Amino acid sequence: MALMITDECINCDVCEPECPNDAIYMGTEIYEIDPHKCTECVGHFDEPQCVQICPVACIPINPEHAESRETLWQKFERLTADKAAAQGGGTESGPPVAAS
Ligand code: SF4
Ligand code: SF4
Repeated sequence: MALMITDECINCDVCEPECPNDAIYMGTEIYEIDPHKCTECVGHFDEPQCVQICPVACIPINPEHAESRETLWQKFERLTADKAAAQGGGTESGPPVAAS
């Protein structure tokens, strides 16, 4: 399942850089988690890194995004493929060519 951040968040900023999927971002008032990117850290770590580091324990499971471990793996693989495609997509534009 994806996780979520509750309104107990104190905006301490420590969880955002810990997320291996860039799923955490600053929302309108507090930090939020994109459920399409959160894999509960499956594929990267044994434990959710944001939960481990949050000083106020305000990151529970998101009940609207119930997912099995297998589904989380599939999400991890999709995110990894997307990232690889984004990084490898530089050949189209390529380096600037000097005008003759
Ligand atoms: S559980 Fe992992 S993937 Fe999900 S938001 Fe937290 S750090 Fe990111
Ligand atoms: S670590 Fe916890 S309190 Fe700090 S910004 Fe993240 S969710 Fe909010």
